[in-house]
Formats: sequence, structure tokens, C-alpha cells
Amino acid sequence: MKAKGVDLSLLGPLEGMDIGCEPGDIETRLPLIKQFSGLRWSVSAGPWCLGRGKSVSQLISQLKEDCGKFRPDFIGETGIDRHYNYGEKGEMEELFIACIELANELNLPITVHNREADKTVLEILRTHRADRRGIIHCFSGDRESARQFLDLGYAISFAGNVTYKSNEALREAVSYVPDSSILLETDSPYLSPVPVRGRVNTPLNISYTYEFAAQLRGTSAQELNEKVKQNYFSIL
Ligand SMILES: [Zn+2]
Repeated sequence: MKAKGVDLSLLGPLEGMDIGCEPGDIETRLPLIKQFSGLRWSVSAGPWCLGRGKSVSQLISQLKEDCGKFRPDFIGETGIDRHYNYGEKGEMEELFIACIELANELNLPITVHNREADKTVLEILRTHRADRRGIIHCFSGDRESARQFLDLGYAISFAGNVTYKSNEALREAVSYVPDSSILLETDSPYLSPVPVRGRVNTPLNISYTYEFAAQLRGTSAQELNEKVKQNYFSIL
């Protein structure tokens, strides 16, 4: 199979997670996901679903339907976005907590969206434990915030923004997270790594992030890839 001129068979078996954004999107995602035998999927009602005419309970009941029909491996992205502050005051928190409760009901891990919201996300993860824990996705904090998420038992996933010049604190976090808790992700179509920064991102660019993160950690991209794979499968 070819994507934009790249022969995907050269990349070896693709293992990974296709992430949900809103209830119902899995119906259109699944035919694409099924083209790759190693891909799993999540379903979600992320904070951006708020403020669009649906209540938290409506979103959750749609999400439950998705779970029943499509058997996901994760719930998420779920979390808090202080950059956009979606919905009415308190609704993001309510939706995040309801997603954690659903994950616990179904015995699934979660993948957490945290944009400029360390304090609230940490507080909710402490008071509303996700039994299976999961992933802090697209981690953009510093070493201290990484430590707090690690203490709660979460894996930390880094994206292409680790390559951006101004992100020194984030690079410290990349070096700090232990081998047993590190993941890398594309976050495509966002956060294209240097040297393709500014273009629409695709999963094919993940190798730049691997090379960069491996160098920071004093290892090779191949070895880092082995660790990431192990960590990913241990969460599932
Ligand atoms: Zn996100």
C-alpha cells in the first residue's frame, strides 16, 4: 500500500493507536483502521465536544453506544483544555470525570488531553482514579509535572514539539522519564517535528521525533522504539 508515494510495507508492521475525538467518529475511522492489522482504536468525547448543543450526559450516552458497538481499547482523548475553555464553567471537569467512570466500568485505560491545565488534571486524576491508568498524551510540561503524572502511574507520551527550539523544559522532561514509562506519538495532523515543522503532520514523520528523543536520552531510535512498544503493550 502507498501513502503519498511512500511504500508502507517498507515500514514493517504498523503498531499503534488511532485516537477518537468525538462520539460517532469511529464509524468513519474504522474502515481506515482496519487496513492495518496492528492498529487499535479509542473512542472519546473530548472537551471540544462541549458548547456544541449537547449536554455531558448526552455525550456520555453516545459514547457508551460506541463502546458497545465498536469495542475500543482505550477511552480518550479525555481531559481539560484551558487554552480554549470549552463549554460552560465546570462542564469540562464533569465530562472528564464521567469518561474516567466509563473507563472504570469497562475496565479500559484512558488517554488524557491536558492543555495548560496541569493543576486541574492532576487533581481530577487524584480524586477520580482511573483504575487502569493510561497515557498523558502530547505531554508539554516540565520535569516536575512529569514526575507528578509518573507518581500517579501514568505513561508519558511525547510528540513532535520536543524538537522545537523554545521547548527546553520539555526536553528536560524527555530525558527524565524512565524507560518503563515513555511513549512517542504523532499527534498528526498537528505538531510536525523539525525539519517538517509548519507542514501538515502525518504518522510518517514520527521517525524525526524518535531520532531526536533518542539522542536526548543517549540511546538509538531502534532501542527507544523497542521500549515504547513494550510500554504501549503493557498499558493495553
Ligand atoms: Zn490532545
